[in-house]
Amino acid sequence: MKKRTALALVSAAAIVVGLAACAPASGSSSNAPAATGLIGVAMPTKSSQRWIGDGDNIKKQLEAAGFTVDLEYAQDDIPTQVSQIENMITKGAKALIIASIDGTTLTNVLQEAADAKIKVIAYDRLINGTKNVDYYATFDNFKVGVQQATSLLTGLKVVGADGKDLGVTGPLNIELVAGSSDDNNAGFFFKGAMSVLQPYIDKKVLVVKSGQTDFSTVATLRWDGAVAQARMENILTKSYSDGSKVNGVLSPYDGLSRGIISALTSGGYAKGAGFPIITGQDAEIDSVKAINSGEQYSTIYKDTRELAKVAVSMAVDLLSGKTPKTNDTTTYNNKVKVVPAFLLQPVIVTKDNIKAVLVDGGYYTQAQIG
Ligand code: BGC
Repeated sequence: MKKRTALALVSAAAIVVGLAACAPASGSSSNAPAATGLIGVAMPTKSSQRWIGDGDNIKKQLEAAGFTVDLEYAQDDIPTQVSQIENMITKGAKALIIASIDGTTLTNVLQEAADAKIKVIAYDRLINGTKNVDYYATFDNFKVGVQQATSLLTGLKVVGADGKDLGVTGPLNIELVAGSSDDNNAGFFFKGAMSVLQPYIDKKVLVVKSGQTDFSTVATLRWDGAVAQARMENILTKSYSDGSKVNGVLSPYDGLSRGIISALTSGGYAKGAGFPIITGQDAEIDSVKAINSGEQYSTIYKDTRELAKVAVSMAVDLLSGKTPKTNDTTTYNNKVKVVPAFLLQPVIVTKDNIKAVLVDGGYYTQAQIG
């Protein structure tokens, strides 16, 4: 019992130190109102490991700062998320931290929040079409896409590890997959990726054999791996039954990558050397294992512990009358206002740096990823 209390104190202290390191704007002032009250945390789904980690990290950090927390997951169902937020408002939440399912569907409920003077932080995904969102905590989403495409080119040996063009003339066959079109991030990821890939497509070094290149065609509703799998199966039948091979797939999220890998293996692609280069995002445990075993080439690691820290320090600052720290006040226009944002930096992970980044960084233990 005693040991557990001591451990809890140590980790609470570590969190507070971490918070301070992340948000120098929130200097402690003895006049600051006490950090008490309820904060509502609305997460999209438990079907992806990352959101479970996000929710847990935010809750832990808010509780360590003295708040009570209502953490809810909406199973990717929009009306469920709206009613969860309504409940948080009814229960008297002082602030809401929201990772939206569809960034355009919260306008009415956020008006209710504004009427009740509740602060709103968009978490990871921008909330669109409302003035009632105060701050945005996220990663550099365009850069995520740039990194996904860059790792695709590295895996295909079109560019070297130093980023230099290796003079490959191709043609190499790639297919493109994007995320859910109602998630503002999906467009940023795709635009970032295409900023890197388009010149190679124009030079015909890369060929999208299916011809499917526009965002709305390649988007995957609700980031559903089964949808990406079915689309890849169709593409294999329609565009590759002449014996030609897929050399690489731009995939924006590990859950989609796993569906794509299933489609490829059931379509006759043998695991091992020559397996198509597949990208991803989130460094989910199953996908890190797939990178280790060579089925997936890369993922983009986004440290959700850090993202939670940013969102928590924004909430703490807002509730104590301070101005949260931001580092981007131009990029994230939600069609009503530019939402001031703090962007964290994503990191490319391949087999070569799994240990250095994920294990040595304390995100996973070696045992978790096998
Ligand atoms: C997040 C990604 C995640 C995707 C699917 C996006 O909004 O930024 O990290 O892979 O949603 O959950």
